[in-house]
Amino acid sequence: MKPLIETHVISHRLAVVCTNRGQHKRIRLTTVTWWAPVETPTEPDQLSISDSGRHWGGPIANPQGSALPYEFWCGVCHRHTQIKAERWLRLVEGTRDAAMGDLDVAYLD
Ligand SMILES: [Zn+2]
Repeated sequence: MKPLIETHVISHRLAVVCTNRGQHKRIRLTTVTWWAPVETPTEPDQLSISDSGRHWGGPIANPQGSALPYEFWCGVCHRHTQIKAERWLRLVEGTRDAAMGDLDVAYLD
């Protein structure tokens, strides 16, 4: 994804975390960022997912595999969560609407 810094502003951020349902301390797996266009507010926001740490994979990381699920790995409890792209996008949009800052993948399966 090309840099959006000059044309977009961050409108929401979601930390994707694992706590293994409260069994270990909060580990951040990645961060989802919504970018709102500054000069064309009617355009939809764009989403990006941070690559740092590489605790996830999915259709964005592998563009030819749009039917692939998103996957998240936790290095502490070794939970491997898979979630279909359609459900994932619905979920993250839901967290934004609810102004939630965290999403614990341990509750997704
Ligand atoms: Zn975990």
